Amino acid sequence: MRHRAYIGVGSNQGNKEENCRRAVREVGRMPRTRVRQVSAWFVTEPWGAASTEWYVNGVAEVETGLDPGILLKHCQDVEREMGRRPSPVRWADRVIDLDILFFDDMVLEGPELIIPHPELHRRRFVLAPLCEIAPDLRHPLLGSGVREMLDQVEDNGRVREMASP
Ligand code: ADP
Ligand code: MG
Repeated sequence: MRHRAYIGVGSNQGNKEENCRRAVREVGRMPRTRVRQVSAWFVTEPWGAASTEWYVNGVAEVETGLDPGILLKHCQDVEREMGRRPSPVRWADRVIDLDILFFDDMVLEGPELIIPHPELHRRRFVLAPLCEIAPDLRHPLLGSGVREMLDQVEDNGRVREMASP
């Protein structure tokens, strides 16, 4: 368990909250991986013009012995097993989306994996849940902390924390 990663979880089809919870359970079943913290779930306005269906979003903190590329593969396996179909449209509706937000303080720009996630600092629906579990975490490229990024984000998409059960 050498690494600490943050995974963004989102769903805007079916039972969205249940999909998100199930995805986090599946992340906890990945080899050499433990879920350390999960944010509250947020109901959020869809991003981009591809959909009008609202999302449920949250963030999980995990400890893992996997390398980032392998962690991504496992995330894609979970997406597939949960019925996500490839779509040519960006930001199309999806039963589940798992994005690696941070992986230690690694900076990586590969063809299939970019870390930190290139959009995270522009998205309120990522920063709001992330700020609950890691307000002081620093972005290795921008130098700012999560709370700061949330205070400064220009995204005005609506984001509302769901009542906890
Ligand atoms: P998005 O999450 O941007 O709405 P997708 O989930 O369909 O779109 O992901 C598109 C591609 O993004 C994936 O094929 C994956 O290789 C790539 N990708 C690059 N960086 C990351 C990351 N940090 N986490 C997850 N996917 C990533
Ligand atoms: Mg994704």
